[in-house]
Amino acid sequence: MRKSEKMSTVCDIDMCTGCRACENVCPKNAIRIEDSIGALNAIIDKEKCVDCDTCKKVCPNEVLCELREPIFWKQGWAPEEIRQHSASGGAASAIIMSFVKKGGYVVSCLFEDGDFIFKATNNVKDINKFAGSKYVKSNPQNIYEEIKTLLSRGEKVLFIGLPCQVAGVISLYREYEELYTMDLICHGTPSPSLLKQYISDEGIIWETITQIDFRNNNRFGISINGSRIKPNRVLDSYLLAFLNSLNYTENCYSCRYASIKRVSDITLGDAWGQLSDKMDKGVSLILCQSEKGIALLETAELHLEEVDLSAAVDANHQLKHPSNRHIGRRRFMKSLKKNGNFKRAVFIALPIACIKQKLKDLLIELHIIKDYV
Ligand SMILES: Cc1cc2nc3c(=O)[nH]c(=O)nc-3n(C[C@H](O)[C@H](O)[C@H](O)COP(=O)(O)OP(=O)(O)OC[C@H]3O[C@@H](n4cnc5c(N)ncnc54)[C@H](O)[C@@H]3O)c2cc1C
Ligand code: SF4
Ligand code: SF4
Ligand code: SF4
Repeated sequence: MRKSEKMSTVCDIDMCTGCRACENVCPKNAIRIEDSIGALNAIIDKEKCVDCDTCKKVCPNEVLCELREPIFWKQGWAPEEIRQHSASGGAASAIIMSFVKKGGYVVSCLFEDGDFIFKATNNVKDINKFAGSKYVKSNPQNIYEEIKTLLSRGEKVLFIGLPCQVAGVISLYREYEELYTMDLICHGTPSPSLLKQYISDEGIIWETITQIDFRNNNRFGISINGSRIKPNRVLDSYLLAFLNSLNYTENCYSCRYASIKRVSDITLGDAWGQLSDKMDKGVSLILCQSEKGIALLETAELHLEEVDLSAAVDANHQLKHPSNRHIGRRRFMKSLKKNGNFKRAVFIALPIACIKQKLKDLLIELHIIKDYV
């Protein structure tokens, strides 16, 4: 374990992804994940710890998971009724649907009772609850025991999550043949505390939220209980910070999964820069790293087309390198610490971008430009 003067942590200081694999295996319940907004750390309670090193053996930052090049790739989209409610082309929902229809269990992230948690299900009626990108750090803490129980019973389990979360699942359960994994191309995630702070700055009470959306196909922007905070053309402060790589946790800026070599059987993202006339409704980029991944793709109801992989990689920096820390990140964090106001901190870090969005908002309000529907 790592020891600084102040604390012991499972992996290097500020490099924890929050996958929580270590917490799950500690026999003494000695680990807690500390979220300091700018970084996560898996802190060890020295009073309880017996130095068994089990946590270190499952930490994907300490014992690296194998990363593999894609062996098969396509772009495509799901049938309209799935695609329209999905983040991108709806490939994730379509693959989940076919997996569950064939009798498997899917484990995926959803928003419930104010938290971004994971659920396991083998019921097709639950599947639409997973759809949509949640641009925030989700928490798999609650789901590991259930995954283990299902796999031990011989069930087929498909885990879908961020690459670092897939790494956590693989490091715990790699010996199970019935485990399938699907990861998202990921350019970084902010702490959920930042999202809560933004929502509060907008005068919305977190506890009243039953549904939160960050994006619908190619339109980015937060919607609360079905209503967008800003008009369609205008980016809210949260998405502005997110898309400018201002507010991720520290580890994301050196993410080892930001590469064409992937951790899972199948990887999904956006097929940017390809079928531009189809992009408005969302087109998924689908990369298979194993025969299991190809099997998942083949059984899903998806319209598939050829994709130029090198062009897709060129248009998606996360397949080449981690996001670059925005130059204004220090100003953002300093202001947030001082004033506790998310919107003001984003303005201080990204003044020109914020003014542009404010101007658009005003012009729409005055009916000088039209919002699109
Ligand atoms: C934080 C984040 C960053 C991303 N960055 C990029 C990028 O740089 N380039 C790119 O091409 N694509 C990126 N994506 C992926 C993209 O936004 C879509 O999620 C992906 O293309 C799948 O779209 P879909 O229509 O197939 O998914 P849908 O059918 O809408 O299903 C989405 C699936 O993703 C899961 N999911 C969503 N958010 C999370 C989360 N926070 N944690 C765990 N699971 C989650 C859902 O549970 C669901 O299973 C990112 C996604 C996230 C969540
Ligand atoms: S070394 Fe063992 S007891 Fe100590 S925190 Fe890690 S798993 Fe827990
Ligand atoms: S196992 Fe996951 S949560 Fe634990 S220290 Fe490693 S990266 Fe962090
Ligand atoms: S950028 Fe990497 S470390 Fe950060 S959330 Fe995404 S996969 Fe995890």
